[in-house]
Amino acid sequence: MHQMTLAEIARGLADKKFSSEELTKVLLARITQLDPQLNSFISLTEELALEQAKAADTRRANGESGALLGAPIAHKDLFCTQGIRTSCGSKMLDNFKAPYDATVVAKLAAAGAVTLGKTNMDEFAMGSANESSWYGAVKNPWNLEHVPGGSSGGSAAAVAARLLPAATATDTGGSIRQPAAFTNLTGLKPTYGRVSRWGMIAYASSLDQGGPLARTAEDCAILLQGMAGFDQNDSTSIDEPVPDYSASLGDSLQGLRIGVPKEYFSAGLDPRIAELIQNSIQQLQKLGAVIKEISLPNMQHAIPAYYVIAPAEASSNLSRFDGVRFGHRCENPENLIDLYKRSRGEGFGPEVQRRIMVGAYALSAGYYDAYYLKAQKIRRLVKNDFMAAFNEVDIILGPTTPNPAWKLGAKNSDPVAAYLEDVYTITANLAGLPGLSMPAGFVDGLPVGVQLLAPYFQEGRLLNVAHQYQLNTDWHTRTPTGF
Ligand code: GLN
Repeated sequence: MHQMTLAEIARGLADKKFSSEELTKVLLARITQLDPQLNSFISLTEELALEQAKAADTRRANGESGALLGAPIAHKDLFCTQGIRTSCGSKMLDNFKAPYDATVVAKLAAAGAVTLGKTNMDEFAMGSANESSWYGAVKNPWNLEHVPGGSSGGSAAAVAARLLPAATATDTGGSIRQPAAFTNLTGLKPTYGRVSRWGMIAYASSLDQGGPLARTAEDCAILLQGMAGFDQNDSTSIDEPVPDYSASLGDSLQGLRIGVPKEYFSAGLDPRIAELIQNSIQQLQKLGAVIKEISLPNMQHAIPAYYVIAPAEASSNLSRFDGVRFGHRCENPENLIDLYKRSRGEGFGPEVQRRIMVGAYALSAGYYDAYYLKAQKIRRLVKNDFMAAFNEVDIILGPTTPNPAWKLGAKNSDPVAAYLEDVYTITANLAGLPGLSMPAGFVDGLPVGVQLLAPYFQEGRLLNVAHQYQLNTDWHTRTPTGF
């Protein structure tokens, strides 16, 4: 049962082959049995899950239908869930039970999805290895000595290990696409403003975007359908109609113009990944796509710009965690300043503290123009590069990551080495564009992802290309040994 995709589950439930309650029990037992190896969950919500599963079964018995009605999922632990711990992977929020549901959580619950639990993540979504979580590192089911990617590493590891078919995640600089690549999943970061950020604990507000992690593009379409849409509670949510994402999956790729940026194939890219990307290009050519070399000349400036903007926004967003209004409070403070200092010093881990310091510095008087303003100008140049490219092509294709998943601990002593691994993903966040990663093969037994980028609001195009690719390849069907 655990091998079923969301689409297969929807068909099975509709055909009354099993109930949501039966499926939920099987998956909860599987999580209890297997997750100790992976550490992909921070909280399990068994009672809520069984309650929601029974309610979904009743709704189906009463004639309701829907692809998510009775479908088991989990939420990354930065989506607020009413009455349930929402930790953001941090000691700071270990005791925080959200007083309300995030819009994404409420929408998916209304569609009948069943929440099995909250998944592990890098602390405050800062990282690309899921090692900065206060709840411990998550392991990659393809090789337990390797990282699953981050910051949505818990969602990725759980789905890859078939503990559940799909999960929510968020992507500020790659945190949906990179763990998807590292664990052989399909992950979609939507256009900025497509999915509501209300109730999604903020890391860098102008970059954060929620989206689906699943095994197939077909499943990402189903989950995105439940997540997307205008929300008046989020002032950056965009009032644009949500298309039927599953409806466009069957479109032909004949004549589709795919741009491949020449900057993507530089010395930093593992040549074995470059070869797999070439294979996926050939596969898409066979399906009728036309390949064109393009250029994104400002790409090299994206990492430094991102690592100024994201920490700057984080330093502002995280100022609310002061031990008074929110978060961990130290024992026996001597005075107010001591309370702030010790609560924040004890509550935040080293990577979060590093980013708060970098961000506060970049925003401080005298440095603002030199760092933050400059970074914002680079951001515009990165966006302009994409706008020029999309005048010529429909999709941009390249690797999701320069290397496969590294060993646990390998980059802990050098944070900049980890930052450099974000080179292919962060440009989409800076520009606000949608991006998808899909399985493209293996290097030393570790999965490799190919990334597709599209113009604003063309999530349907990304899903269509990925689905057509998946109808003609079987990388996405491979299961890690032992799971
Ligand atoms: N690795 C990037 C960072 O650490 C992206 C994280 C994310 O997308 N949440 O900021």
